[in-house]
Formats: sequence, structure tokens, C-alpha cells
Amino acid sequence: MNMEFALLNGEIIERSEAKVDVEDRGYQFGDGVYEVIRIYNGKMFTIHEHLKRFVKSADSIGISIPFTSLQLSEMLEELLIKNNLETGNIYMQVTRGTAPRNHVFPTGNVAPTLVAYTIKGVRPLDNLKSGVKAILTEDLRWLRCDIKSLNLLGNLLAKQKASEQGCFEAIQHRGQDVTEGSSSNIFIVKNGSVITHESNNLILKGITKDVILELCTKNNIQVQERTFSLAELEEAEEVFLSSTTAEVMPIIEIDGKKIKAGVPGTITKKLQELFEKEIEKQCGLLVDRVI
Ligand code: PMP
Repeated sequence: MNMEFALLNGEIIERSEAKVDVEDRGYQFGDGVYEVIRIYNGKMFTIHEHLKRFVKSADSIGISIPFTSLQLSEMLEELLIKNNLETGNIYMQVTRGTAPRNHVFPTGNVAPTLVAYTIKGVRPLDNLKSGVKAILTEDLRWLRCDIKSLNLLGNLLAKQKASEQGCFEAIQHRGQDVTEGSSSNIFIVKNGSVITHESNNLILKGITKDVILELCTKNNIQVQERTFSLAELEEAEEVFLSSTTAEVMPIIEIDGKKIKAGVPGTITKKLQELFEKEIEKQCGLLVDRVI
């Protein structure tokens, strides 16, 4: 069994030794932010975008990460090499640090706790090829969903509900407006145009979402970033979700009702193809492809 390593406050140590205090504010309050970075062929996909969002999320709750983005990316690179990770994810989080329990932020020199570790994981090729089922659920979360906060209870409750109904994802809505999935952004195709919620405080600005929007623009696929309704979702020609781990994932059924023919749509498949090309541009040739 190979030894696994983790990054703790700037040091790469044995993963089993990477421990944080019971009064770490991440553990007590979810007082921190995180990122999940996808690894293909041992290389980090869209790393700059992830680091930028990590710093922005931390800034927005007043946590100052004690490393530069360059230092972070070098440490993550080293972690990947030490763990010999080919395909999988890096999980990284920063919390406000350890201090006596108090809702008020600690004063003085409390150092943030920064942790990163790797998770092996192949691409979800079966689901990417055949598509997945989803349910609808009211969005119960707070009004700063743009922060990639450790507080994920609303997301967890939604995902658990989907899972209990044999579905992959819960599509959340505020009243009649579709916001996003429990751990993904949601897209519809209407009159050949790709539509997804604008990146505001009600959703997370997905890195995958932004890659898809750019691919659409470059390839003359019409896009609209705007709120769409449950009725538009129901009548959509195609539906798909996007995330770091799920890539461009077709949704073929919602609440037991098939989307059109109940198979992945043409534009969704085109975007899967373009997305795979983008992965290959950054990380080298893929062994298995969806298309
Ligand atoms: N929305 C939510 C709520 C998420 O948890 C995720 C996954 N991190 C996304 C959207 C997709 O973001 P990304 O493409 O950066 O993984």
C-alpha cells in the first residue's frame, strides 16, 4: 500500500497525520471555503480559475489565505506527484482557524487552517454517455450562493432527497425560477440556444459553466445567461448539468418525466465533444472518450 500525503498549512505530511483541532472554526461553524480541482493525466484542469475563485471566496468572508496563488499551485503540484495521482480530484479548504468557540470572528493572530488532499476517481463515462435523472426541489439556501462556502446543509438535503429517489441530482428553484443543482449548474436548450442562470448571488459561478459558455461562443452556439422558469425547463429541447467532477452531464428525466425522447441531446453531445477537446488541450490525450 502506497503512503498517502496531504497538505496542512504549507507542509506536505502523511495523510494520517493531518489533523485539525476540535475548535477549528471549519469544524464548529463551517467557517471557511473550499475548491475541488479535477486531475486528468496527472495535470490540474483550469487550475488558475479554481485558485482565483478560492481567493475570491475567502476574501468575501474576510479570510486572508497565507499563500500566493503561485505558492498554492506549486504545493498542489507537489502533492499530486507525491500521491502519484493520474485521474481524480484535489480537495482543498481554508478555514478561519482555531479559536475558543464564539460566533464573533477571533481577534489577534489566528492563522487560517489550510488543508488539501487527493482523491482517486475515474471519469463518470457511463452517466456521461447515457445521461442521468433529476428531481426538482425548492432552493432552501441562503442568499450568498456565490461563495463556495463549507456550509453545504441546504445542498446536502437536496442531494439526499434526489438520491433517495434514485436520481443523480436535485434541480433547485426559488419559486418559479430555476437556480442550480445541489452540486452543479443547470442548462437548458431552447430554440437551439443554450440558457443558464446568470452568475449572481443565487448560484455558484461554476468553472465548468464558464468553460462551456466560452466553448459555445467560440463555436457559434447561441448562449443566454439569464434566469429561466420551471415551465421553460419542462418544455426544454435538452437539459444538462455541469460541474468539475460531472463535466457536461446530460439530464434525460426530471421528476419521472422524460426530456423529449429521453436521450442525450445533439447540442449536449456537441458540448461534451468540445469539452473533451478542451481537457486534452490542457492535460493531454484522454484514454476513454464519451464521443
Ligand atoms: N453549483 C454548486 C452548488 C456546486 O457545488 C458546484 C460544484 N462545485 C457547481 C455549481 C459547479 O461548479 P464547478 O463547475 O466549478 O465545479
